[in-house]
Amino acid sequence: KFITFEGGEGAGKSTQARLLHDFLLARGIPADLTREPGGTPGAEDVRGLLLDPAQAWNARTEALLFAAARADHVAQLIEPSLGSGRWVICDRFVDSTRAYQGGGGDVLDSEIMDLHRIGSGGLLPDITILVTVDPEIAAERLAARDGDTSDRIGGKPASYHAAVGDRFRELAAQEPSRFVVIDGSGATDEVQARVQKAIAHWLGE
Ligand code: C5P
Repeated sequence: KFITFEGGEGAGKSTQARLLHDFLLARGIPADLTREPGGTPGAEDVRGLLLDPAQAWNARTEALLFAAARADHVAQLIEPSLGSGRWVICDRFVDSTRAYQGGGGDVLDSEIMDLHRIGSGGLLPDITILVTVDPEIAAERLAARDGDTSDRIGGKPASYHAAVGDRFRELAAQEPSRFVVIDGSGATDEVQARVQKAIAHWLGE
């Protein structure tokens, strides 16, 4: 199974991805935890370029770099893992590009999906868990994050993040069979219980 986590910064998706990975391993399910942009040495190098504050990529250039990083990640890690029967949990995937460079930027969804077909054969997750929180909660969580409060791709205004959040919700509404929207507010273990419920049907529960 291929499971992705999506959401804005401060939604808690990285924590939830890690906890789900721990949960699957404890169940004896072989699973890999990975992230985008990144996940392979080459794609982590591209991540460094994308997150470099000295650069001023526009949304189109970002979309191309994300597609290139993802192509390497899919070819070298995700497809081999899935092919050998392992589960893959990925923190962000193509839906982040659709939300950030599409919703927040000016790249058409059809263009992003074309790049995704060219780079990664159009691979889509079996389930995408969209973790949502109110912007105020996200801001509080980001402020509490030790030494890592940088909103990595260039300090964007609140309106940008609102557009990103809106696009995530639109995508979830368009593809209800793939997306599960999970309320990310409340305690970490409460949110994790919601996540586990979303995949319980695969565990025979
Ligand atoms: O929150 P996370 O660490 O996963 O994201 C890294 C950074 O990359 C965030 O600042 C996010 O806004 C940005 N990003 C982006 N476009 C994407 C994926 C991530 O701007 N497609």
